[in-house]
Amino acid sequence: SSSNSKLHAAILSSPGLGHIIPVLELGKRLVAADQNIAVTIFAMSPTSQAESQTIKPASTPKLNVVELPPVDISGLVDPKAAVVTCLSVMMREVRPAFRSALRDMASPPTMLIVDLFGTESLPIGDELGIPKYVYVASNAWFLALMMYSPTLDKEVEGEYVDRTEPLKVPGCRALRPEDVVDPMLDRTNQQYSEYIRFCAEIPLGDGILLNIWEELQPTTLAAFRDEKLLGGVTKMVPVYPIGPLTRPVQSGCPRVNEDLFDWLDKQPSQSVIFVSLGSGGTLSYDQMTEMAWGLELSQQRFIWVVRPPTTKSDAAFFTSGNGDCDLSTFMPEGFMTRTRGVGLVVPLWAPQADILSHPSVGGFFSHCGWNSTLESVTNGVPMIAWPLYAEQRMNATLLTEELGVAVRTEVPPWKKVVGREEIERMVRKIMVEKDGFEIRGRVKELKQSGEKALREGGSSYNALFQVVNKAMQDLKK
Ligand code: UDP
Repeated sequence: SSSNSKLHAAILSSPGLGHIIPVLELGKRLVAADQNIAVTIFAMSPTSQAESQTIKPASTPKLNVVELPPVDISGLVDPKAAVVTCLSVMMREVRPAFRSALRDMASPPTMLIVDLFGTESLPIGDELGIPKYVYVASNAWFLALMMYSPTLDKEVEGEYVDRTEPLKVPGCRALRPEDVVDPMLDRTNQQYSEYIRFCAEIPLGDGILLNIWEELQPTTLAAFRDEKLLGGVTKMVPVYPIGPLTRPVQSGCPRVNEDLFDWLDKQPSQSVIFVSLGSGGTLSYDQMTEMAWGLELSQQRFIWVVRPPTTKSDAAFFTSGNGDCDLSTFMPEGFMTRTRGVGLVVPLWAPQADILSHPSVGGFFSHCGWNSTLESVTNGVPMIAWPLYAEQRMNATLLTEELGVAVRTEVPPWKKVVGREEIERMVRKIMVEKDGFEIRGRVKELKQSGEKALREGGSSYNALFQVVNKAMQDLKK
């Protein structure tokens, strides 16, 4: 323990399970780091059952979760506004409530942490005279792109996606134009200006926390610490890799899917592929058909979390797990009968972290959201990368071309419907074929490297210790 001073970190979370989950894990990690640390997490009131099941039981005496009143943005954004626009406007509108909640606290916060969409609340940290951090619960390459985007905005003319040359970010892997994050796809859309704004706000924090570990992306992290590379652009704001922070097994609700785990218990080791597209991902009708056939043809055991098909790949973002799901309206005829015993179809939502940590699971067909990616890697599970939205195209490229723990389609799935034979081939490659051997090996190595980083004396352990220590020093000033 660093001193007798009491550190009280207030963490502001954006809505959406992909944001709340890593914020909760950061909170838990902080209170576990030192007995003199208390944490209060501020989250928007839940909009889905899955969200309330995650938020409600999370409070402990040292980690308090406070729900901020819901904000109504219906009059402020277009009904068809993009996800990043909605999140940005919600986080803007919630500021007054957040500010007064902070001011009214019996034990005043001594440190402020906001996540990616909360950067507009950083000045509240200045008002209170406390250090402020930005928690980007994703990887360093994505952070690098964001930090460099205000420069790209000035230097690049026309749409990024129309370029033929890759986008160069100092000291980092160049980015294929088609891999840019969603808000960069169309520079005339409101979400692009929101994006450029928060990219420029990130370096206003006293430091940035990332949900990776040093050994995962050493070169990219080095670029932030080099004045001649990204460091020159970002004014050398310190970047702290403190992950991999993932949900522990059986967190939150009791095992609701008892049958599913009974079935998993009976399957051979690493024989089941888990198919799921995050809290909000969906497929088109035609792609669902090919997916079903591909799984069946692969002759592998599977668990498939299914949502009704849509034409927009992030259609379920704000409703994760809510709604109806009538399988008979979109599953190929006879699929359920033919795959009985071999595969399980779970409508809408499944306890993913528990499933991925089960010894019977040997592969993950994933949309490459960063939480899902970490849950796969920390369980040593190789992936099929099927990016849909947000920064997932970058994540998929990182996983396949740099880390070598995933396979992906020949032509990206957002360009055309991927046929059943290709799906069959990818599933067999990561699950059974000889040429998937290296991929399966590398993900096991990464799992160990992540575990080591979190242990006492490991890189992520030390990085969090630095942040905590610095905040403790600030207390004494
Ligand atoms: N998740 C889950 N069950 C589901 C779908 C998602 O438990 O059926 C969890 C998943 O384990 C992960 C989070 O929701 O922790 C999704 O976050 P991620 O960053 O992967 O993607 P996002 O949903 O933000 O696109």
